[in-house]
Amino acid sequence: MVPTKTRLVCFVLAGHSGIDPGTSAGGYTEAEFTYALALDLVRALERHQPHIEPVLLTTAGHAGPTSRVGVLKKHCKNHRFLEMPASPDNIARIDQKLDGLRVIKALYRQTHKADCVLIEVHADARKGPDGLHVLYGAQRSEALAGCIAGGHSKVTLRDDLRLLRLAPLPAVIIEAFNMTSPKALKTFLRKSHRAAFAKQVAQRICDFATR
Ligand SMILES: [Zn+2]
Repeated sequence: MVPTKTRLVCFVLAGHSGIDPGTSAGGYTEAEFTYALALDLVRALERHQPHIEPVLLTTAGHAGPTSRVGVLKKHCKNHRFLEMPASPDNIARIDQKLDGLRVIKALYRQTHKADCVLIEVHADARKGPDGLHVLYGAQRSEALAGCIAGGHSKVTLRDDLRLLRLAPLPAVIIEAFNMTSPKALKTFLRKSHRAAFAKQVAQRICDFATR
């Protein structure tokens, strides 16, 4: 077997947490979907993109399997926890997340000698168009956002979002779908659909790494 060289370390952050479950619809919370989508993306990268090392990141209260959405934690090799205080102060929480990201990025830069990017996954695209919608907050993230969106999805600059503006690496938020749409919710409850979606996003991350 030829050893593969890591070209890119991809941090996949499941948006929301136990402290902040996000949107709820149909009896599910957005946090359940962000966890499921993040794991699907990690698995797709592990399976199909040997030059990209995925690292699952979660925050307080968001580390458990999501069996209701058909996901268990197995198969994920690298899982790191971004510790955040259970504080209602959003800025304090985001700053703690940014500090954690700096530490984790330094660690992987040192061990892998590869660039790092961050993809935070959400499932409430109500403020944007239906379907995949990519947000970025700084110029260094523009190329990553464009690659992940592909030709058909909308890319939006959101420099009001502190994490995106101040992230110490190219960082985007993916609004994968709008869970308040019953039709979209039903579609994304299907594991096969999520796997196909994750495979496509993984391919686009590879396009970014090899561009
Ligand atoms: Zn969200």
